[in-house]
Amino acid sequence: MNARDLLPEPPQSDELFVTFANTLEFTNGIPTDHVAEPAALLAWLKENGLISERGRAGESARLHRDPREGERRMERFRYLRNLVHAIADRVNDGHPPTRDQVRDLNHILRHGLHYHQLVSEADGARYSVSQVGDHLDQARATIASSLANFLAQDDPHRLHTCANEGCREIFIDRSPTGRRRWCDMRVCGNRAKVARHRSRARGLPAKANAH
Ligand SMILES: [Zn+2]
Repeated sequence: MNARDLLPEPPQSDELFVTFANTLEFTNGIPTDHVAEPAALLAWLKENGLISERGRAGESARLHRDPREGERRMERFRYLRNLVHAIADRVNDGHPPTRDQVRDLNHILRHGLHYHQLVSEADGARYSVSQVGDHLDQARATIASSLANFLAQDDPHRLHTCANEGCREIFIDRSPTGRRRWCDMRVCGNRAKVARHRSRARGLPAKANAH
């Protein structure tokens, strides 16, 4: 492999829904869930500014006291993560999200209730947003909003699922064409090229998963 074949990677997107979707990471098709436990999920939410330290500590104690509730809440986040992957797959294939997917996304968004208020401060007044209700549903709705906003306002055709079947990482390609097929040309793209080269060398067609 010649180093000149490899293009520099554009900067990685930091859209919230992309970061969240990729907390389920695949290596050769084997999944690793980086937020498999309530503690890991809460730490991730805190890191990404979706919950305060006080909120994190409170939810952590609550979910620890009630493991069944903990599992229910984990399931809601997994549901959203699967939905993000499913929508990304649709968009990657050149289709808009299905009606059911839009309905599911809107259902999650409805739990992100907030109101605006004017807050008086020493040096004047500040217009602020206050959230209503459950910390975790709020956080989940914020992740869902980032996807909804992206689909409505950005270039959905830039949203891709890595063409390496064993990887399936979600990414947004901000390059001029927006048609990059692999999450990382140096890793997944390179692997695909090597597989294709080997198949050719043996006179066999390239495997379906080695685009
Ligand atoms: Zn990949």
